[in-house]
Amino acid sequence: MTQKTIGYVRLQWTCPACGSRNPGPQKTCANCGAAQPAHVEFEQAAQEELVQSEDEVRRAQVGPDFHCAYCGARNPADAQVCTQCGADLSEATARVSGQVVGAFRPGPQPDRVCPSCGTLNPATALKCARCGSAMAAPVPSSAVEAGAPGRGAGVFLLVGGITLVGIVAALLFLITKTSDVLGTVQSVSWMRSITVETLLPATYQTWREEVPYDAELGRCTLRLHHTQESPAPNSREVCGTPYVQDTGSGYGQVVQDCVYEVYAEWCEYAVMEWQPVRVETLDGNDLAPRWPEPQIDGSERLGNRSEQYEIIFATDGPVYTYRTRSLDLFSRCTIGSRWILRVNQLGDVTAIDPSP
Ligand SMILES: [Zn+2]
Ligand SMILES: [Zn+2]
Ligand SMILES: [Zn+2]
Repeated sequence: MTQKTIGYVRLQWTCPACGSRNPGPQKTCANCGAAQPAHVEFEQAAQEELVQSEDEVRRAQVGPDFHCAYCGARNPADAQVCTQCGADLSEATARVSGQVVGAFRPGPQPDRVCPSCGTLNPATALKCARCGSAMAAPVPSSAVEAGAPGRGAGVFLLVGGITLVGIVAALLFLITKTSDVLGTVQSVSWMRSITVETLLPATYQTWREEVPYDAELGRCTLRLHHTQESPAPNSREVCGTPYVQDTGSGYGQVVQDCVYEVYAEWCEYAVMEWQPVRVETLDGNDLAPRWPEPQIDGSERLGNRSEQYEIIFATDGPVYTYRTRSLDLFSRCTIGSRWILRVNQLGDVTAIDPSP
């Protein structure tokens, strides 16, 4: 992701000595004169406006302020000696910078209620116009809404999983648990089919550069291919919500994280493929199945073959049907022969064995 700077805004800080709110660039409290201690962090203003003066932009860009090692006073990054005590600033510590303060609040913001007297004050007010008490620091609006999957979903999945295991076990029981039934072959039937194929265009879709060389190219449309940090032909810049970062100088840097969405041609194409055009079938009620013999021309070929055999058994109870693809088994099922049928809990014959 590329970070783009939109501009700079004035931050604020709350005086720990008297509770007054002060503009960020101001290094001592306007109310009681106390210097801003190093541990007192900058906060967002309730309503933010990009600073316009070149001087303020320069002060925002010069780097984090330093706290004097002797008196603790805040001094600008480019100062040599402390403005308060005159000490050398080479051993001073820079303020922490780079933290996200909150989402950028451009434009007019709603009036705010004084925590002491309840009077409505403009969002820009640092103290109440009626009682003079400090307006509270605004709740920082989150710059990035991170969503993590809830715990409830996990429990739901667990319960669902247990139910699924139960259903599968019950089905397995119904299908695999069998009982033996003695049956006599009553009738047999067979069915054999052959698919006839011909070359026909088949349509697919893929990225333009992956279309096979011998394909016929169809309609193409631009589609999102991937995102990257640098611009490319056919790319579009997409930026997130602007947010404010503490520069350590009393000013906030308004930034935006951006990526480039790269678009590429997504195309339909057609290639010639052998595809089924008709199925020829032969059937009968004897034990000597035969294959159909389709008449094909030069543009056709024979494709898939399939065979299905069916045996009807009479028993002491219901009539059972057994289906198989085994010609060997089928050819042994002469009319009147006796077999042991394996019948499952659903009433289906799962296997047959010759009766001793
Ligand atoms: Zn103060
Ligand atoms: Zn000092
Ligand atoms: Zn008030």
